Amino acid sequence: MTGLSRRRFLQGFAGVGAGVLSGCGGLPFFSGAKAHVVVVGGGFGGATAAKYLRLLDANIQVTLIEPKAKYITCPGSNWLFAGLAGLDQLTVDYQALQDKYGIKLLIDRVSSLDAGQRRLRLAGGQSVSYDRLIMSPGIDFRWDAMAGYDQAAAEQFPHAWQAGPQTLMLARQLQAMPDGGVVLLAVPADPYRCPPGPYERASMMAYWLKQHKPRSKILILDAKRSFSKQALFEAGWTKHYGYGTANSLIEWHSLADNPLLELDKPNRVLTSEFGDRFRGDVLNIIPPQTAAYIALQQGLADSTGWCPVRPLTGQSLFDDFIHVIGDAAHYAPIPKSAFAANSEAKACALAVTSLLNQTPVPEAHWLNTCYSLIAPDHGISVAGVYKLDAADAIAPVKGAGGVSARADAQVAAAEADYTRAVYRNLIADTFG
Ligand SMILES: Cc1cc2nc3c(=O)[nH]c(=O)nc-3n(C[C@H](O)[C@H](O)[C@H](O)COP(=O)(O)OP(=O)(O)OC[C@H]3O[C@@H](n4cnc5c(N)ncnc54)[C@H](O)[C@@H]3O)c2cc1C
Repeated sequence: MTGLSRRRFLQGFAGVGAGVLSGCGGLPFFSGAKAHVVVVGGGFGGATAAKYLRLLDANIQVTLIEPKAKYITCPGSNWLFAGLAGLDQLTVDYQALQDKYGIKLLIDRVSSLDAGQRRLRLAGGQSVSYDRLIMSPGIDFRWDAMAGYDQAAAEQFPHAWQAGPQTLMLARQLQAMPDGGVVLLAVPADPYRCPPGPYERASMMAYWLKQHKPRSKILILDAKRSFSKQALFEAGWTKHYGYGTANSLIEWHSLADNPLLELDKPNRVLTSEFGDRFRGDVLNIIPPQTAAYIALQQGLADSTGWCPVRPLTGQSLFDDFIHVIGDAAHYAPIPKSAFAANSEAKACALAVTSLLNQTPVPEAHWLNTCYSLIAPDHGISVAGVYKLDAADAIAPVKGAGGVSARADAQVAAAEADYTRAVYRNLIADTFG
């Protein structure tokens, strides 16, 4: 055993706890009594973790806790604005996880957690004990970032950053807008869920406007200086939407030095620090984000608002028996995406089965791809492969990953097909 893997093995061993060390003689600790792993959150991270735990070790009992009986995927939700998908096509349930993999599903919300007793309390009153807990509760929003924009205002000016009724509301607002109207799309600073998401959204809105309301304009008001796949997006916008000309359907403005500070609701105006005023007919304000409330409330996040973890196992730095994955966790430089959450979940499931069976935690690799549609026949992508470096930090693997080739029409059309195929595969791998 190398020094490094021995250290990881011992770290993992320490995580199992002293009780486990007594008299196991290398046999799985839970032979006889089945280990119970509870997974909180049935999104891409949680559903994948639950499924792969059962695939890796059918002796482990797995309970998945999720408040919604059906889950609407954020991936694909931007396609709604172009009329390429409806919410029903983006909706999945947990039937296969229960029937095919024997996962116990509790449709409920975790309201609190007693880490000392390793017990969760659910909003419905039930309490559930665990041997190990995997948390994948996703994101919540920072409502203090812009004066005038709070949860109530979001019902009028939807962020639509958790797919569902708000996505539909925003699509209807776009459809009701006069030709020649202005859409304001306010984008937060990093890190946030799905770095290329706002630009795919602008593309899909522009595709629809081009056909139905071609005198309109989308102003992207960005808290950043640059954005994911920028050169590819801009080339696509130039090709399809007149980007860079006076009649462009899309304008991108960096407000990195002049942040948006206030929403004037009655006048539909966003005001920046230097007093610039942007008036829109449709306002899509995506607030800055944090780990979901349950993670914050339970002290699993640090001052950044995200949950720090040991990347190899996903164990919280604050509790060895709690693993955090997906958007809620700090896995930078891996971006916050469904593909990444699925990959983190698999590594975590492998680590949890190893810890429960007292076997060394294998080396992990993580993958991410983010595909975006600029038009129905024009896709672009970014891919990354990651592993631990010598200091046990996540680092990109040199020479792996990258972005799509500067698109000729054939490459762009193939990438559009891959976009839809990757979505279908991710759904099948996570929920099927
Ligand atoms: C517009 C948009 C487009 C996107 N497109 C893509 C894309 O093309 N490709 C891609 O890879 N990613 C995409 N993403 C990102 C992707 O949606 C997220 O990264 C992914 O959903 C993260 O998975 P997760 O499991 O961390 O969180 P989620 O999928 O949000 O799941 C969290 C779950 O936890 C549950 N939960 C929360 N609190 C509790 C509690 N107290 N008790 C029990 N359950 C709880 C929630 O109900 C939720 O179902 C997109 C995002 C957006 C907004």
